[in-house]
Amino acid sequence: MKTRVALETDFVHLLARLIGASDDDDPPIERTGKELTCSQPVLGRWIDDCDFPFLMETLALPDRVFSQEFPEIKLSHKDRETFAKVLTTHCKECARCNAKQAEDIAWRLRIKKVIAKNKEAIGAALADEPREP
Ligand SMILES: [Zn+2]
Repeated sequence: MKTRVALETDFVHLLARLIGASDDDDPPIERTGKELTCSQPVLGRWIDDCDFPFLMETLALPDRVFSQEFPEIKLSHKDRETFAKVLTTHCKECARCNAKQAEDIAWRLRIKKVIAKNKEAIGAALADEPREP
């Protein structure tokens, strides 16, 4: 069986295709802060490597779900909550990470719009997905 994270990754790829194929007039979302320097590169790597809303949702998972998805990461819900706050605060203080966070949120809104427009096609594509034994 696929893990929830693997399914979400497939789903994101499907959406990326739909967004790429959509013919509305939204300008492409570009990374604007890339030339800026992160004030705390250890935190900045998290922001750089992860989709911000997805990272926040993952950190907010209930302990039972989190330990199933990431058995190797021993962080309690409280630890993860603290880390999420540190990352959110950093995004307010760091121009580079602030830009990345804003782009990730814009991307998430774009995805929501594409889902609303393509509900039937997405449902059909997900229903077609071969299930592993
Ligand atoms: Zn930063």
